[in-house]
Amino acid sequence: MNEYWLTGGTVADGTGSAPSRVDVRVTDDTITALGDAPPGAETIELQGRVLTPGLIDAHVHLGVSSPITAQFGFQLSAAEIAADIFTCAGDALDAGFTTVRDTGGIDGGVVEVIKKGKVRGPRVLSCGPVQCQTGGHGYYGSAWEPTDLWTQHHVPGLCALSLMSGDAGELRRNVRESFRRGATFLKLCVTGGVVGGNDHLDDTQFSVEEIAVAVEEASARGTYVTVHAHNNGGIRNAVLAGVRCVEHGTDIDVETAELMREHDVALIPTFAVVEQLADTEAMGLGSEARDRIAGVRERMASALRIATETGLRVGLGSDLIGPNQARRGEELRLRAALETPMRALVSATSVNAQILGVGETVGKIGEGMLADMVAWREDPLQDASRFADPAMAAIVIKDGRLMKKEN
Ligand SMILES: [Zn+2]
Repeated sequence: MNEYWLTGGTVADGTGSAPSRVDVRVTDDTITALGDAPPGAETIELQGRVLTPGLIDAHVHLGVSSPITAQFGFQLSAAEIAADIFTCAGDALDAGFTTVRDTGGIDGGVVEVIKKGKVRGPRVLSCGPVQCQTGGHGYYGSAWEPTDLWTQHHVPGLCALSLMSGDAGELRRNVRESFRRGATFLKLCVTGGVVGGNDHLDDTQFSVEEIAVAVEEASARGTYVTVHAHNNGGIRNAVLAGVRCVEHGTDIDVETAELMREHDVALIPTFAVVEQLADTEAMGLGSEARDRIAGVRERMASALRIATETGLRVGLGSDLIGPNQARRGEELRLRAALETPMRALVSATSVNAQILGVGETVGKIGEGMLADMVAWREDPLQDASRFADPAMAAIVIKDGRLMKKEN
């Protein structure tokens, strides 16, 4: 048995309660007591630092950690793609993220090697490849490459960005295949996207009946569907088909937010990627991406306000893609600017855990929870830019183990 106390810290437990001075006992992988450490106990002294639950990013793409055009243009070896994915996983941990939900791009092997401890990284929940409509968002083959060749860009066990389905039958086959390869939930694209493709942001993709096929297959396995969606038409289709969660939600209006509330559908806004994509040159994107990104930031902020006022559960996801993913906490900084640092923290911990279906084990500092915690060098609740700075995450604990410890 491995047991120690974290002493002398101020605990912000992830629920939104006021931070308090309390010691935390960790036994093996679990938090087993909050109180005063007894004399003689083994301790890690936090010197007044703020201790939060390990952060959760509900929207990541570990499988898209290399320069995008190079990765999907056969310019990189499997070894280089793997190196970039594993570096990205380690960076997430170093930035204070102990759980991530991968919303498309890794194959089950990545989840396994991290779980086995062969590669440093956070706990990963994965949907495997994104489920996309033929000709829809999520396809990065060259213009005249037949859709059938797209899976040639996959590396079995390592990465598989998306599967294209021409109809409901193909979608059913593809989601079953994704589950076989380790997916624990599903993600569908039900509207156009910002990056790439021949579609538009206000297109809807997949019909209600088609989305319902994925929902049926997911619920048969006791899990759920989330959707990439920017416009109201696509979101409404998805809600009516029975999905549990909406990613991005850029244009959500009051009517759609109310429909989401009726069906208990959560929202994951993604502000960090919007900032990232705004620098189209750095991302190697063309002018049409710049046109699509214009105004998205403001509209997403308005959607966040409507969702909050309507009483939706609002989680937090960065959606960072490509080589620059080390500052994953940017999403908390951006959300704190629109809300408060505490609200950003609660979204990134207990609310995200609940939306991801892991609220019984992670997202809070409390007795019986898994010991996933971060000690911040300086208080991020006073200045949320500290959430965005990996150097501020002085101690990162996952499953009771010290994954990072700097003085
Ligand atoms: Zn995404």
